[in-house]
Amino acid sequence: DPIHRFYWVPHSIEHYTRSIVMKPVIAIVGRPNVGKSTLFNRLTKSRDAIVADFAGLTRDRHYGQGHLGKREYIVIDTGGFEPDAESGIFKEMAKQTRQAVAESDVVVFVVDARAGVSAQDHDIGNYLRRLGKPCLLVANKAEGMREGAQLVEFYELGLGDVLPVSAAHGQGVRSMLDAALDALHLAEPEEDETPAENAAIRLAVAGRPNVGKSTLINTWLGEERLVAFDMPGTTRDAITVPFERAGQKFELIDTAGLRRKGKVFEAIEKFSVVKTLQAIESSNVVLLLVDATQGVTDQDAHIAGFILEAGRAVVVAVNKWDCVDAYQRELVQRSIETRLPFMKFAELHFISAKKRQGLGPLWGSIAKAHQAATRKMPTPQLTRLLLEAVQFQAPKRSGMFRPKLRYAHQGGMNPPVIVVHGNSLEGVTDAYRRYLEGRFRKAFDLIGTPLRVEMKSAR
Ligand code: GDP
Ligand code: GDP
Repeated sequence: DPIHRFYWVPHSIEHYTRSIVMKPVIAIVGRPNVGKSTLFNRLTKSRDAIVADFAGLTRDRHYGQGHLGKREYIVIDTGGFEPDAESGIFKEMAKQTRQAVAESDVVVFVVDARAGVSAQDHDIGNYLRRLGKPCLLVANKAEGMREGAQLVEFYELGLGDVLPVSAAHGQGVRSMLDAALDALHLAEPEEDETPAENAAIRLAVAGRPNVGKSTLINTWLGEERLVAFDMPGTTRDAITVPFERAGQKFELIDTAGLRRKGKVFEAIEKFSVVKTLQAIESSNVVLLLVDATQGVTDQDAHIAGFILEAGRAVVVAVNKWDCVDAYQRELVQRSIETRLPFMKFAELHFISAKKRQGLGPLWGSIAKAHQAATRKMPTPQLTRLLLEAVQFQAPKRSGMFRPKLRYAHQGGMNPPVIVVHGNSLEGVTDAYRRYLEGRFRKAFDLIGTPLRVEMKSAR
């Protein structure tokens, strides 16, 4: 079966145990109203929070990301936490919070500097102390307070020093973040290097629970040629499973803590938002799986949104194609058009992981998406394309001035960024920007990757 001609490359054992380091995760916990969301917004600043509303899995949990200099991180804002809640929504929230805490690398425990220590703070503090995970005690709403005086009582919580901050006013937030990231002893990230020829493509398979991720991965990895490899211990080490196909090396990035069990891989967690986000961030290309029997759901759209936000190249595959009839197929196709309109650039496949149908062509799309994401676009060619586009259709006058587009250069890769230079570019409409994007996409064959076109005015 040519689709399954996978084999394990005989790398050294180090290769199998090597892991990539994922973005660290900061969980913000604390009782309601202490200012967690405000702090979350500070830490994720420019970017919108990804409201990962994974029905039945998370309630009121927000994921976002940010960076301090070059150090990047993911933040989870947990709902109000009552560790001992016995029932109802509070119990569910406590469960979600515990999961977020378990998946995080450092916990920021927020208390209210003005309200003082409460019984709930003690409960949360006790819970966190037992975890033995790096934990920062942060007293919020501390603007205008004399340091020391009111904060000493928080030492009762037995979590060491109290950092006064004001999330609302941005005071102390930076040094808090510094402390949080320092607690992880992160190495400075390496410079973004141009990918080496024939470097492995890092691939993440993303999708909500039960879409068929494990089935697909096991089909891919084949039953017969598995090599034993050790699994890393910490949350930030992701195992990557290396394999090769048609001369192209791949590294599959784990999204759920894959463990080998006998002849097959098994996810140790059924679904992990954090691991999904981290894997997407660490990948070059994401294969987004959608369930044909369900169509595109809100959760699918959220994951797709995150992939886009991360700027990753993407291939969309509708799985379980074997068990839908013509009518359902029509519905699925329509739901993709209406619910994932922002993914039009991605190639679409209809597959059956279980019946091993349609899997071969995925590889071509994955490779193509990766090539597009790392395409080099020389300035003269970009500029020529830009001027042609303007000649074909000039931007509209806006106010006193007509935007003057002069030249374009490539501002980045993975995802590709094209920076257009000129004058009065503030007046360029979104529609016109999309028009340019379309022209560039077509000319450079940028299939499967997001593309950003930015305007940079000389004045
Ligand atoms: P959460 O329930 O813990 O997420 O708390 P919120 O972020 O929703 O904040 C609760 C309330 O505290 C809101 O009214 C905020 O405006 C207020 N708040 C948040 N941060 C600060 C701060 O640094 N200083 C003051 N004075 N109020 C704050
Ligand atoms: P995951 O949670 O995304 O890893 O999903 P699984 O791989 O565990 O699959 C969930 C269920 O869907 C299992 O019962 C699979 O047997 C089934 N499944 C997976 N792929 C297909 C497929 O292509 N066709 C059909 N009919 N069922 C599938």
